[in-house]
Amino acid sequence: MQYIDFHTHTPPEDKKHVRAIVSCVAPEPLEKYENGNLFSYGIHPWYTKGHDIGKLLAHVRDMAHFNKVVAIGEAGLDKLKGPQMGEQKKIFCYHIEISEEVKKPLIIHSVKANNEVLRLRKKMSPLQPWIIHGFAGHPQEMQQFVDAGFYLSFGPKILYHNNRASESLAEVPDDRFFLETDHTNKTISGLYDRAADIRGISLKELEKTINKNFKTIFD
Ligand SMILES: [Zn+2]
Repeated sequence: MQYIDFHTHTPPEDKKHVRAIVSCVAPEPLEKYENGNLFSYGIHPWYTKGHDIGKLLAHVRDMAHFNKVVAIGEAGLDKLKGPQMGEQKKIFCYHIEISEEVKKPLIIHSVKANNEVLRLRKKMSPLQPWIIHGFAGHPQEMQQFVDAGFYLSFGPKILYHNNRASESLAEVPDDRFFLETDHTNKTISGLYDRAADIRGISLKELEKTINKNFKTIFD
């Protein structure tokens, strides 16, 4: 099995079987996570306090050009935490610009802000793929994102029974989803097991589907 952990903050120990996108939060240096093979780089809405945002954004733009930085983010909007919404939107829009400029996908953190994120994609019609990480919305919301061209990455919430994330994962089209461990100590193999179960397919089939989606986004 070849697993893909689409979004994590810890480089995988088993690099032979796990390909991960390690989320590096500005201004962290990539070296801190040397063991990770691929990275995303961006300003997380939770960690802006005490930083000169102009400088931080310039730094993100520089880092975005590195080959091993394959995606921009996580960046986005969070109504429960972080600076006021106007400021968050400004920072997020800057990430959208960078993603388009360097032609790399955008990994999005969205908390209680799904409508705004949907609106922004419609308004800006970017060419790069946008991926909502840690998606836990209900199936109707999932469908709205799919219709708008998004990809959705599902996290450890799918491990618990009877929740919206699992319902959405059961219905999301084959060509639009990923799995991720994010901040947790859950294993990506455990998530694959559960996801295969939820979708009623074999692990091999799931592996093939996710590998294909990964290729679509990055090749
Ligand atoms: Zn994260």
